[in-house]
Amino acid sequence: MVSLDKQHFEPRHNLPTPEPESPSLPRSRKPYRFSTLCATVENPNPGHKDQHGSSSVPIYQTATFKGVGGEYDYSRSGNPTRTHLEHHIAKISSAQHAFAVSSGMAALDVITRILKPGCHVIAGDDIYGGTNRLLTYLRTHMGVTVHHVDTTTPSTILPHLIPGKTAMVLLETPTNPLLKIVDIAGISSMVKEKCPDAVIVVDNTMMSPYLQRPLEHGADIVYDSATKYLSGHHDLMAGVITCNRDDLAKQMAFTINSVGNALTPFDSFLLLRGTKTLAIRMDRQQATAMLVAQMLQTLGFVVHYPGLPNHPGKEIHERIADGYGAVLSFETSDKELSERIVGATRLWGISVSFGAVNSLISMPCVMSHASIDPATRAERGLPEDLIRLCVGIEDPADLLDDLQHALLEAGAITVAANDFIRIPNAVSKAVEKLALGERRTQKEGETEDREWFVSAPGKVILFGEHAVVHGVTAVAASVDLRCYGLTSPRHDNRISVHLTNIDNFYHEWDLDALPWDSVVSVLPGEEHPETLDQRLVDAINTRVLSAENMPPKSYAAALAFLYLYMTLTRGETRPSFNITVRSTLPVGAGLGSSASFSACIATALLLLHRRVEIPPLPAPSRVPSDNDPGHLHISHQGRRAIPPTVAEEINRWAFVAEKVLHGNPSGVDNAIVVFGGALAYTKPGFARKGGMEKIHGFKSLKFLLIDSKVGRDTKKLVANVAMKKAEEPELVNAMFQAIQSICDEARRALDDPELTREELLSALSVCSALLATYSTACSLLNQALIEENHSYLASLGVSHDSLELIREKTASEPYRLSTKLTGAGGGGCAVTLVPDEFPTAKLRALNEDLRSEDFEPYLTSVGGSGLGILSPYNHESHARAQPDLYKGPISPPPTPADFSEAGSSAKRVREQFTEATIDELSQWAESQGMWLFV
Ligand code: PLP
Repeated sequence: MVSLDKQHFEPRHNLPTPEPESPSLPRSRKPYRFSTLCATVENPNPGHKDQHGSSSVPIYQTATFKGVGGEYDYSRSGNPTRTHLEHHIAKISSAQHAFAVSSGMAALDVITRILKPGCHVIAGDDIYGGTNRLLTYLRTHMGVTVHHVDTTTPSTILPHLIPGKTAMVLLETPTNPLLKIVDIAGISSMVKEKCPDAVIVVDNTMMSPYLQRPLEHGADIVYDSATKYLSGHHDLMAGVITCNRDDLAKQMAFTINSVGNALTPFDSFLLLRGTKTLAIRMDRQQATAMLVAQMLQTLGFVVHYPGLPNHPGKEIHERIADGYGAVLSFETSDKELSERIVGATRLWGISVSFGAVNSLISMPCVMSHASIDPATRAERGLPEDLIRLCVGIEDPADLLDDLQHALLEAGAITVAANDFIRIPNAVSKAVEKLALGERRTQKEGETEDREWFVSAPGKVILFGEHAVVHGVTAVAASVDLRCYGLTSPRHDNRISVHLTNIDNFYHEWDLDALPWDSVVSVLPGEEHPETLDQRLVDAINTRVLSAENMPPKSYAAALAFLYLYMTLTRGETRPSFNITVRSTLPVGAGLGSSASFSACIATALLLLHRRVEIPPLPAPSRVPSDNDPGHLHISHQGRRAIPPTVAEEINRWAFVAEKVLHGNPSGVDNAIVVFGGALAYTKPGFARKGGMEKIHGFKSLKFLLIDSKVGRDTKKLVANVAMKKAEEPELVNAMFQAIQSICDEARRALDDPELTREELLSALSVCSALLATYSTACSLLNQALIEENHSYLASLGVSHDSLELIREKTASEPYRLSTKLTGAGGGGCAVTLVPDEFPTAKLRALNEDLRSEDFEPYLTSVGGSGLGILSPYNHESHARAQPDLYKGPISPPPTPADFSEAGSSAKRVREQFTEATIDELSQWAESQGMWLFV
């Protein structure tokens, strides 16, 4: 039995004595101890006495206060119940200022509003999940850089301290549930020395002001989720912030009043009441926690509790804290045994959270941390069998008794010689590891182990580029120059990427070397959060890619690939394969090559992770005919056989990849390349309703896409247009309005099922008879939408000489074709509408003409099919030859054993894929079998 005194450090803080000392007395009063301060609530404004002398602070349940010039006018700005609470919190936290807000997360929100775009934050890599989420938001929406480091090793912070940049260091100690210790004092002085302006913020929730007052150790701001120990009863949500700096307090008071997240009068009352008993609750809770920790350790379990002599960081903890708290955890080495123990307790409630008067028991790996996959949990050192105990105020003997009974019942301990002894564990740690290995092998069977061949088109903006930035609807369509991805299984626990169009980039990674401790898997059925997981991006950047000397485009592609691969991985199921990507699309010419790449990797990864499935085709029917009674009819509905739900899932993940590549994409490009056809897109936030609308009746059109090979700086061009708009708003807005009418008209024409093809082509293009020269065409033909849209773009200053030369060439005799620039960036490319009947010889001549000027023309169709997957159910010809196989789901021909195995058909296919010329590529891909499309 451990004496309770052992838990009780002498208070080192010098807390104020409320009464002035009297010189006539022989001895001055000693400062009040913490529990006295907790139990005594002072009037923050002694001038204002309660009219009835109430001994408990009343709830001023009012929004407004009468009169002018009084202390209070509106409860968002100030309320007497809250003022009492804040005064009380400041007093027990040795702080000059305290604020009470609606939750722990609201407190952090208020604090982080001190940050400005461009500044850096350093935070732990094992912090509360909600904190991580908020920091990610700041990174993605506020331009704040966040570095996650292992704050239990202070030296890891040093490389990230940048004077003038580092604005905040966010610490949490002890961590939850492994009770790791962070040296607040050491880190504070290290940070202040190098970056004196950086604000040190501490989340003190695990300790409460009773056990730890970080302001005394160099912190500038401290916050608590008061939902936990401060309130103590799990009956309210609240957060408190304390600080000693007037400047920071002023900023935070301003934010709280501005956003209106101060704590309500009723919750302020409840929290004040809870706080009065903080010390007595904590004394009891941590004393019992120590008893529990010792009992478990004596029985031979691995116990994590800073009060135990062998706990790493104990000495540091004792320097900064006045007690060890009431959360502890222990390992049994057997997950099932742990489950039985948790299930066998009666008094310990199975629940998340901590800090309440009732004792709680949980298994983090199956509860609070279940969303992290087991391999990652293992890498983070979070044992699967870990049991967390949050000790309450029940009688310690009852709690110990209940736990001992649960251990007995679960078969973890037995009684021998009138004492409890631990039953030697059948599953030792080493065996556990073996078991993990076994599970891994078994699960490997679940991964996809065959080749997948996928492809996605590019996209072209037909109308409305640039103006789209200012709220005009743009019309975009798929372009049938495609990006192809071929996956081949490997059996060496590695993944590799081969990008033939980007400097023939090839790289491979050992799966075990990826930063699995930084990934939060998105489970099937869940959607990727709106913002990227910056922690994972940083981890891939710093731990996987930074050492490689890669060209920027390959680097970005590898980052997107690894980000998706890791986020899609579940548990120990990690498919090992190579993906080779080739494209008939010019890369970086504004034709959606990155969206197309994104869609290809998203599709391949979803298939390989078995998160989407291609349903078998309906069995073909034998259609008897007079001369061929056994003729097999294969329905071509297969060509549109990718179900919408699968396409939508692919589109969501292609968008995630686009985010990795571009930061803040609109979502148009990925939607076009996945769904094909055409759509109208209006940017949200303007007068017109924002969003995307499919153009349903879109008829596939022939276009010549001409790469001008002139590099364009999209950002600069967009900024120039914005500047022009600011300088001449009337003129530029009138142009935007005109472009809007062009887009509306184009959309109507493209969508109109009644319009003949001829009518459509002439609506879009210039009537060739009137086209004497380019300039007369522009002035004469308002209805020629392509010309008209281009003329406005030229007036906006986004065209360039090469593009005008292309226009001149295509418009000249004998071609007489309409051309406009394309792409948001102002046209590295031009699009030329090619009428259906345009003679091939003429087209060849035009191409030669264009090539002679060093332009690169691509003849393509626009508005065709979207994403494609080579059918896994056999080829059309195969089905014809073996109709019996076509009755139900047909397994693809088995893929030869090894990626590297010479002569295997997988290798042959891959070689053909890599070696085909760009001109041959699409034809070769077509010949591989039946493609299924969205
Ligand atoms: N900080 C820590 C350490 C927490 O455990 C929690 C909640 O569990 C919070 C902050 C957030 O507090 P709240 O839930 O009150 O918003």
